[in-house]
Amino acid sequence: MSEFEIIERYFRPLTGRRAETRLGIGDDAALLAPPPGQLLALAVDTLVAGIHFPDDAPAESVGHKPLAVNLSDLAAMGAAPLGALLSLTLPRFEAEWLEGFARGFAALASRYRVDLLGGDTTRGPLSVTVQAIGCVPDGEALRRGGARPGDLVVVSGSLGDAALGLSRWRQGLAAADPLVGRLHYPEPRLGLGRLLRGHASACIDISDGLVADLGHILEASGVAARIDADAVPLSADFAAACEEDRRREYSLAWGDDYELCACLPPEALAPIRSAAEAEGVPITAVGEIRAGAGLEVVDGQGRPVTLAAGGYRHFRGGAGAE
Ligand code: ADP
Ligand code: MG
Repeated sequence: MSEFEIIERYFRPLTGRRAETRLGIGDDAALLAPPPGQLLALAVDTLVAGIHFPDDAPAESVGHKPLAVNLSDLAAMGAAPLGALLSLTLPRFEAEWLEGFARGFAALASRYRVDLLGGDTTRGPLSVTVQAIGCVPDGEALRRGGARPGDLVVVSGSLGDAALGLSRWRQGLAAADPLVGRLHYPEPRLGLGRLLRGHASACIDISDGLVADLGHILEASGVAARIDADAVPLSADFAAACEEDRRREYSLAWGDDYELCACLPPEALAPIRSAAEAEGVPITAVGEIRAGAGLEVVDGQGRPVTLAAGGYRHFRGGAGAE
C-alpha cells in the first residue's frame, strides 16, 4: 500500500464534517474558519513507541492515545475541539495494523466531533504526532497562573490507574483489564473543562503525576499548596489490586491518567461537583492553596508524606508523555 492509498482509505473519511472546516484533507493545507469571538487553542504532542507507549500496545490504542492526550490539553484550557492534524511515522504499511489505528483514532474523533484536517505520512520508527485545534471564548481560557490562597485543589476521576495498568500490561494482562484500559485509552475530560470555565482560577491536566503538575500551577501562580495524600481519589479496581507500598507513588507521582487538576474558590465546589457528576465525572477536593511557595503533601493525620527519591522524574521514562 502506498502513502496515498493509506490517506485515501483510512484518513480521508475522517475529514470535513464540521461547518468550521472549509477544506479538509487533500490540498496543500486545510482551511478552518474559527467561530467568531473565540480564540484558537493549539496543542501538539509526539508519542514515540517504546518511550511514550509500549512497543506492543494495541493498534487501536496507538490511534486513540495521541489524540486523547492532545484533547486533554484542550480540556485543561477549557477549550472545545474543532479538528486535528496527524503526522504518522510507520516502520511498514501494514493493512491490519492501520485499520486498528484508524479505528482507534476515528472512534475518539467522532465522539468529540474532531475533524481530521490533514497530516503527513512517512516511514521510520513508529511515532505519532497529533496537533489538536480547538476554540475558547476570548477571555475565558483556563490558565495555570490564576490560583489564589484559599482556593481548593480538586481533581477529577481517579489517579494511579494508568501507572498500575502499565505494570499489569507488563505482567501480560490485556487491554480488557480496566486498569490496563486506563493506560491505553485515556479519556479527555472535555466536558469538565468547559464546566470549569468561569469558575476555576487555574487548571492543568495530569500527564506527569499530581505532584508534578500541581507544581506547575503553583509556580505559574506564585502560591503554595498543601494536599492530603489520603484524600486522593482511587478507583475500586486500583484499591483492590494495588500493593500497599505502591499506592502513594502511583496515585501522586506517576502520570498518564489525564484527569484534570483545578483550583476553585470554595463556594464553587458544590455547583461544579454536581454539574460534573451529572456528566459522570466525580470531583474530589484534595487540598488547598496557601500563600508562599512549594507543595506540602501530608496524610489524613497531617503527617508529612515523603515520596520515593527522585519522585516522578525517576519513573518518567516508562509511562508519561512529555
Ligand atoms: P504535501 O506534500 O502537500 O504535504 P501530502 O502528500 O503529504 O502532501 O499529503 C496530501 C494530503 O493528505 C494533505 O492534505 C495532507 O494534509 C493529507 N495527509 C497526509 N498524511 C495524512 C495523515 N496521516 N492524516 C491525515 N491527513 C494526511
Ligand atoms: Mg506532506
